[in-house]
Amino acid sequence: MPKAAVCTAVGAPVEIMDVDLASPKAGEIRVQLGASGVCHSDLSVTNGTLPVALPVVLGHEGAGTITELGEGVDNLAVGDHIVISWVPQCGACFFCERDQGELCESGSAAAMSGGLLDMTPRFSRDGLPVFQMAASGTFTEETVIPAIGAVKIDKDFPMADAALIGCGVLTGFGAAVNTASIRKGDSVVVIGCGGVGLNTIQGAKYAGAERIIAVDMVEGKLNTAKIFGATDTINASDGDAVGKVFELTGGRGADVAFEVIGLGATIEQAFQMTRRGGQAIIVGVPSFDVTLTLMPAMDLLVQEKQIRGCWYGGSNVHTDVPKLARLYQEGTLLLDELISARITLDQVNDALANMSSGEIARSVIEYK
Ligand SMILES: [Zn+2]
Ligand SMILES: [Zn+2]
Repeated sequence: MPKAAVCTAVGAPVEIMDVDLASPKAGEIRVQLGASGVCHSDLSVTNGTLPVALPVVLGHEGAGTITELGEGVDNLAVGDHIVISWVPQCGACFFCERDQGELCESGSAAAMSGGLLDMTPRFSRDGLPVFQMAASGTFTEETVIPAIGAVKIDKDFPMADAALIGCGVLTGFGAAVNTASIRKGDSVVVIGCGGVGLNTIQGAKYAGAERIIAVDMVEGKLNTAKIFGATDTINASDGDAVGKVFELTGGRGADVAFEVIGLGATIEQAFQMTRRGGQAIIVGVPSFDVTLTLMPAMDLLVQEKQIRGCWYGGSNVHTDVPKLARLYQEGTLLLDELISARITLDQVNDALANMSSGEIARSVIEYK
């Protein structure tokens, strides 16, 4: 009976409780968690910004060890270390065949359902279902996930770093490398320098951007942004961040602007910071009631601006997770620097509170 952090009601503290875990069904695996990052989307479930079926085992950024295989799983083995993908990617549907695995027909439906591919969770309590956040649920000692939501990594890869790849790194790095069309020498703006934004910054650097302007309201986050590759920083609490970006980009605006917060006002700012012919990319998760008012349609036409969403970093997890793991092993990708606190499952409420106050990059739960 694993211990898990369960959100039972919006606005209430997360409860640590024992839950029942059923055996993996066909095509599923049981995983002993090694580590789980605490992501902003976990906070968004607890405060109601991201409405999901309750009660739910939180967490979707995890890594662990396979302890049991369901029927028909032949590409993984007990003892394998894996990164969990919160969009399981089947490799065979319309989107997967077009290298848009982040939109996988099977995985996307599961991720929204609170269950696995058959839309039912494996957790329960007193005979009643306890749902699994994003087809995973990683704030728990053990979970069961679809085998197509697991990507094997080396056994000596640190679990805490592996966990971060599963959401924040894939999302942030992928936004710059997969979704944006960054060219060598480009100027890039990243609004929001939390766990995902820092990865967008290092992704932009990897993609060849020359000027990387980090925008945030917390000075400490701007300092961290420099470690990840920001060449310039703007503290938005000083006012007129858009004007400052224009000053830094020859009066034209940036080639690519990323919004990594999820607020209507900052998405509109990202669009304004983008040059004619440039791209604004939405990476942050807005609440459902946010609607954009961008510009007169004639301006969109004449200015040739693009605005596009970026879900899960536009990632094919089965190729991108091994690539990111290799970049870390080569010393190109920073992961340890993302971890601002290593905690136990019991401390998850503190980690969520720290995140809502805006000070911390990533707390990582480590399981014994
Ligand atoms: Zn996340
Ligand atoms: Zn698919």
